[in-house]
Amino acid sequence: MLDLAAEHAALQPALDEAIQEVLRTAAFIQGPAVGAFAAELGEYLGGAHVIPCANGTDALTLALMSLDLPVGAEVIIPAFTYVATLEAAALLGLKPVLVDVRPDTFNVDPAAVAAAITPRTGAIVAVHLFGQCADLKALQAISTHHGVALIEDNAQAIGATFQMTNGKTAVAGTVGEVGTTSFFPSKNLGCLGDGGALLTRDPARAALLQQLANHGQSRKYHHQRIGLNSRLDTLQAALLRVKLRQLSANTAARQAVAARYDAALADVPGISIPARDPRSTHVFHQYTIQVAEAGRRDDLQHFLKGCGVPTMIYYPLPVHAQPAYQYLGYRAGQFPVAERLCGAVLSLPIHPLLMAEQQDYVVEIVQQFLQ
Ligand SMILES: *Cc1c(COP(=O)(O)O)cnc(C)c1O
Repeated sequence: MLDLAAEHAALQPALDEAIQEVLRTAAFIQGPAVGAFAAELGEYLGGAHVIPCANGTDALTLALMSLDLPVGAEVIIPAFTYVATLEAAALLGLKPVLVDVRPDTFNVDPAAVAAAITPRTGAIVAVHLFGQCADLKALQAISTHHGVALIEDNAQAIGATFQMTNGKTAVAGTVGEVGTTSFFPSKNLGCLGDGGALLTRDPARAALLQQLANHGQSRKYHHQRIGLNSRLDTLQAALLRVKLRQLSANTAARQAVAARYDAALADVPGISIPARDPRSTHVFHQYTIQVAEAGRRDDLQHFLKGCGVPTMIYYPLPVHAQPAYQYLGYRAGQFPVAERLCGAVLSLPIHPLLMAEQQDYVVEIVQQFLQ
């Protein structure tokens, strides 16, 4: 699915140097690389404030904490996402309110979000799934109209952009009150362990998030708020500085792989290639096809595996069907699109170093199975 060892081999001297520098200075927590990385990523993302933290799940938790919502406030969340999006809200005693997604882009359906707004709604969490922005224009309009905060879970779409009105280009994660991201090793910008960050355009919220991520302290041993111990290690920040320099080239390489898949698979009967929203760029964290015929997806995955082609199913079970979230009281059939997608999606190998011959082989096996 991805070849992190090869990616890191190419960067080995710079990564080694970064590690040695951290060892020399021994500032393992909040060392200078953390601030330097935050500034560099902020610049990469068009001037956003970046607050590093321990992982993408903490980033979601901290984003919601910064809104000061009352216990039981409703948080609108897509039914087709990674569990972390839901987990953060649930842990804070907020009420996840699930809404269905669009069958073409996999992203949250703005009409469903608008229909789910109540006087108790405290936030909307949009997820830019697989590397493509959710409909930020519609979501921002709903957020503004109802005075409800928009949080963007941008763990999968770092660097993606979206055409807003008047030809304005927005950067994923910087449109809503807070954006969150993850540096889990397999993400488009991954560290060599766990890491995450918060994004915001508002300097006051940036200061609040910084405080919340560090025990709610304004200065050492002075605690204004109940916070978390959620910091990005200096070592990870130092490694991320090296990897950030590669991100644009890696994104372009992923996009080239996706374009080759598109061309080869567009006309193969029985599957559909990922839909592109013309207003969004797509950074292709995943290249996810849909297998039309129910039950056939698992057979295709099995066939590919037998031929040595790894694939993944993101996600096999919708969040409302997970045992941990039965208490929300949802039933099967309530989110028909999310439920169907869980049985239809298959993510093919995609990474910056995937070679054309390897890709041709994947395509050949897929075609063989479907003919
Ligand atoms: C990876 C991911 C997260 C969680 O990030 P961690 O760093 O693993 O905690 C949250 N949301 C989405 C959509 C993700 O893909």
